[in-house]
Amino acid sequence: MGFGNRWRFWIRGSLASSRAFVLINGVPTKEFPITKGVRQGDLLSPFLFIIAMEGLNVAIRSAIQNSLYSGISLPNNGPSISHLFYADDVLFVGDCSLSNFKNLSRILKCFHVVSGLNVNFHKSKVYGIGIENSDVVSCANIMGCEAANLPFVYLGVPVGANKNLKRNWKPVIDKVQERFSSNGFLWAWRKNPSLPVEMAELAQLCRLLDGVSLSSDPDSWKSKLSSDGQFYVSDICKLIDSKVTVGTNSTTVWVNLVPLKIICFVWRASLDGIPSSMALSRRGVGVTSTRCLFCINGVDDTDHLLIACDLAKEVFKWIFKWCDVPFVPFSSVSEALNFAAKWGNCPKKRKVFLAILYGGLWSIWKGRNDMLFNQVPTTISKVVDNIITMVFGWVKHRGNFGNCNWANWCCSPFSVL
Ligand SMILES: [Zn+2]
Repeated sequence: MGFGNRWRFWIRGSLASSRAFVLINGVPTKEFPITKGVRQGDLLSPFLFIIAMEGLNVAIRSAIQNSLYSGISLPNNGPSISHLFYADDVLFVGDCSLSNFKNLSRILKCFHVVSGLNVNFHKSKVYGIGIENSDVVSCANIMGCEAANLPFVYLGVPVGANKNLKRNWKPVIDKVQERFSSNGFLWAWRKNPSLPVEMAELAQLCRLLDGVSLSSDPDSWKSKLSSDGQFYVSDICKLIDSKVTVGTNSTTVWVNLVPLKIICFVWRASLDGIPSSMALSRRGVGVTSTRCLFCINGVDDTDHLLIACDLAKEVFKWIFKWCDVPFVPFSSVSEALNFAAKWGNCPKKRKVFLAILYGGLWSIWKGRNDMLFNQVPTTISKVVDNIITMVFGWVKHRGNFGNCNWANWCCSPFSVL
């Protein structure tokens, strides 16, 4: 790692020079030297640990360079993540392959031999994301540690749990509450106030606290937005809608079945805010053509591409047929959304219908981008297939429907209700 001789001499000196004794029945033994380590509580200790861990970092990086270990690459040429070190916590992230685990195990063994730092495999765990449990178990066996399931706690915060659920925040809230309740708020004078300045400050404090009456009830938060003081997410949604998203229909903005990315896309599309070729050329961005990729006469703008184009029309016709709803032609994205927001009498059915519509708009846009950027041809049946599989995934994983059967879904989307 390139430390100079003198520096290494200093560190070796402080590691080898410390001496200690043991108390036996209250009688100290003879002092003896500790040749491998600083004194307990020595301020050097965390720094030396960080430097030693830097050695592991270097080892992992060189393993990656030599294709012995592979982390996971983030999409769109994003960085690759292989390991995260924080204080004495180490998190390895990588492909779930036997060779990855075998090599990681070897690296850790080498690190142990070189640094003397042994990994406690009984305290370590292997987690799989989107991996069969049996695969996770066989990989964990290579490392000699336990396979476990998400969520897990990292730095005191649950990872892999649904953050929208109150119960998943409970451990954090409990911990904070515990900190507050453990004698942190007991008042005690270190010395009684006697100086004039202190007496004046005390009098001021008493005046400030005059109107305050404390009860022994636990503290609580009260929401000003609701009549019963309870906090509801829907109240916040309404507040945001009234202040920020002027003129948008809240039924079509907060569709919890649909991933946020796609909600944002559709919302932007309804305001003509997606980067179509027409929109780009209006803003002075050089585009090679503003023609629609799907038909001869159309232009590549929001309402043509997503609504008026033959391909979009056919996709919508198919969606209506699949949902067993009489076809209604639209002239704009917002018209389509408003229709879906008011459609039918059953809110659950409406939610699914709306999700399918979102999936439709997104799939058309995706098809257009595949064609434009990847030269992959887009057909109506491809768009339709994409809608069926994508929205099925949403309904299955994001919805609260008990009846998610693929075959029934393909016949009618409302079979899940
Ligand atoms: Zn077209």
